[in-house]
Order: sequence, then structure tokens, then C-alpha cells
Amino acid sequence: MANLHLYNTMTRQKMPFKPLNPAEIKLYTCGPTVYNFAHIGNLRTYIFEDLLRRVLRWNGYQVKHVMNITDVGHLTSDADEGEDKMLKGAKREKKTVWEIAEYYAQAFLEDMDRLNLLKPHIKPKATDHIEAMINQIKQLEKNGLTYESGGNIYFDTSKLSDYGKLAQLDKQELQAGARVEVDKNKKNPHDFVLWFTKSKFLDNSESLKGEGQEMQWDSPWGRGYPGWHIECSSMAQKYLGQQMDIHCGGIDHIPVHHTNELAQAEGATFKKPWVQYWMHGNFLVLKDKEKMAKSDTNFLTLQALMDKGYDPLDYRYFCLQSHYRKELRFDWEGMNAARTGLRRLRNKVCKLNSDNATTAPQPLHNRSTTERFETAINDDLNLPEALAETWNLIDNPEISDADKLATIKKFDTVLGLQLDKKLKFQIPDSIQKLIIERNKARKDKDWEQSDKLRDEIQDAGFIVKDGDGGTEVQPK
Ligand SMILES: [Zn+2]
Repeated sequence: MANLHLYNTMTRQKMPFKPLNPAEIKLYTCGPTVYNFAHIGNLRTYIFEDLLRRVLRWNGYQVKHVMNITDVGHLTSDADEGEDKMLKGAKREKKTVWEIAEYYAQAFLEDMDRLNLLKPHIKPKATDHIEAMINQIKQLEKNGLTYESGGNIYFDTSKLSDYGKLAQLDKQELQAGARVEVDKNKKNPHDFVLWFTKSKFLDNSESLKGEGQEMQWDSPWGRGYPGWHIECSSMAQKYLGQQMDIHCGGIDHIPVHHTNELAQAEGATFKKPWVQYWMHGNFLVLKDKEKMAKSDTNFLTLQALMDKGYDPLDYRYFCLQSHYRKELRFDWEGMNAARTGLRRLRNKVCKLNSDNATTAPQPLHNRSTTERFETAINDDLNLPEALAETWNLIDNPEISDADKLATIKKFDTVLGLQLDKKLKFQIPDSIQKLIIERNKARKDKDWEQSDKLRDEIQDAGFIVKDGDGGTEVQPK
């Protein structure tokens, strides 16, 4: 088995990967809260997780991958305050929460397809697993880790001696609370809700959960609904057992969500180490360094990129150019460069295809390039390096075309860029509109307008060709 090293957030260092059971790697990744479209910042995390799976596969491992779909219980603040995200989505679109969940879960799966992400083997929905959550809360209760206050059931963080170890929260922080304390029902600042029968809003007003809340279930503590964190720990243990190899998510999950998932899982199993490797993807940031958040109205979806004429895999390529633990800055220049890079690479691969149609037999993969590629991906998923190695290969005059092609196909099992896909392109509606406008401008001999429109089409990544039959475009 090759020498795979992964960075473990728990130890803050790269460590050799040693599976619990080499026959099957157990992987859990936190899934989407389905109240809106995923934004491209969220999608960066799913691309990182997909790369992890592909690298595990490269190393010969079978993976069992579970990803939850959050359709209940996630409030606008990760730490128990604010409005229910699902309810917020339902109000906005005047639909039921169930309709909202169904619609955005489908939209998310479609985005996964477009980005060529391997599908999780199990995608449990939170609302289908209320019983598992209730059982885990009961177990925590039995273990003396909970209390009831103000109608809700809380996890008592003071009862767990190593609470906060993942986020490395020290004692002082634990006592002071990382943020302004708003819930007077909590005994300790970091305590969190396991089961709600009442909600609490940011202005500290309370409301009975029944008001406007469609998703409610009976429980030993009254009718209500589960906290967000309990869904992941209970569903992960249901499908992966008491221990797993790798748990992933965005770095924003470290201080609250993953810290609390961990407290619940280990609290329920008497501290058996739940996760062997915690891995976290860094943020996608905009120009002003702002993290892209789903709650902002001005977030970018994959569809928005497609409407601008990008192939979804242009975005995948864009993400591959940066290491997953580094912040990645999004801008259109970077996207254009990624689009050009991917097109050039595919073009070159297509040429290899046709040049070698008659070449036989296929030689072995190029050994030294493959070794360097493997060293890169096994060094905590160094994809920027692996991508550079792919370019070195394609531009190396000493390697035969047939050898290049075989090697590239192997690399692409990790890169996931569909490099041997024949170039076919669709002209997006937005560009189609510009072409029609430009044809009209040319007919009217409005050359200024026609030039302006040509520039606009070119800036969107297309070459403009004027012929007798009007304007034709093709990707640069
Ligand atoms: Zn989670």
C-alpha cells in the first residue's frame, strides 16, 4: 500500500493513514442543509471530499461513504439561536418545508453530478432518522450528560473532561464562552440543545415550537424537534458503527458543529475514539476576503457560473489549482484562466486520441511521472502539484502519445476532469442572446454596438467569427 499521509485536524499534523480495517474505509461527510441552492463555496468542500475518495481509491481502498441531508433542525446560527433554516426557506418561497427540502436536495444532487463528484453510498435524511437521534439522546441521558432547562434538553459540556479538544478550546475560553451568551437556560456557555420543544430567537424572545413549525415529532421530552448536531453523530453511528476512519467538513464546522458531534458520539459510547482522522476544507473567499455564506443574498451558484458560459468542470479545475487547506480567492480572472487551462488540456488529450487511433499495443503507464503524481496526491492531497505533473506529462516530448494517453486516463481517475471527453460545447442562453443582438446591430450597420457586443462575447470565453450567415462562436 502506498504511503498516504493526511492532515488530521485533531493533532494539527500530517499523519500516515492507518485504517481501522483496510478492507473498508468508513467516511462521513457533513451534507447540505437543503433550504437553498448550494453556493460555490460549499461546493469547494464537496470537491475536496470527492478528491479524498478518489485518492483513497487510487491507493486500493474500498470506501463506504455516508453523507447526511439536513432537512430539519439547523438554525441560522450553528449555536442554537435564530430562525429555523428550513422554515426560513419555506416562508421565502411560500412552500411547505417538505417541498423545500425535496427541491433543494434534488438541486444539490444535480450539482454533484455536474461537478463529477462520486455519489455517497448512503444519503440519510435527518427527518427519516428521528428515532436514531432520540435513542442517542436517551443514551446521553443515561450516561449523565444531559439536563432539561426551559423546555429543551441540553448537553452538559462540563461533564465531559475533554470537551472542545478538536477546536482546542482551552479552559478559559470554555468558561468565558467564545461568543456573547444569549441563552439563560444554559448551565455552561458551550452547552447545546439536543432536543427542542421551544425555540429561542436572537433577540432572546422565546416561542413554543408548535408555532409555524411543521416538522415536529413526539419524544420522551415532549413534542418538538432535534438539534442539528445530533443528526450527524447518530446517523454516522447508525451506518458506520461506533468508530469511523475519516470525518470531513468545512473548517467552519470545527468550533461548534464537529465539536458537538464529537461530544455526543463519544459521550454515547463512553469515549471510544469516534473519528481517527478529522479533515477540513478551507473557505472560498471573495475579493474583500469575505467568506461566501449561504445566508448572504448575493451568493454564487454553479448554475450562475453555467449561465455565464462556464463548464461546471471549469470550477472543479479552478479548485484543483489550490490546496484544500488553503483559503481560495474567487475572481472571474481566475475562472477564465481555469476555463482556458481545462480546454487546452482537453484539446491536447483529444489530439493524443486521434493521433493514436491505430497504435497498439498500449504500453505501460509512464512510471516516473506516475510516481511523482502519486507522491503529490499522497502528500495530503496535493492536487496543485498533481495537476502540474499532468501538464509536465502532456508537454514532455520524450514520452510517446500512447503512453501519455494511458497515463492521463489513470491520472483522471483522481482529477475527475473528464479529460478524454470529446470537446462538445453548448452556447449558453446569455451568449445566444448577445449573438442575436449583434446580428441585428450588424444588419443595422451599428458598428459601435456590434464591436461592443463582440467584446462582451469574447470576454465570456468565446471566439467570434463573422460569416455570410451571421455570427458564429466557438469556445476559445
Ligand atoms: Zn455534521
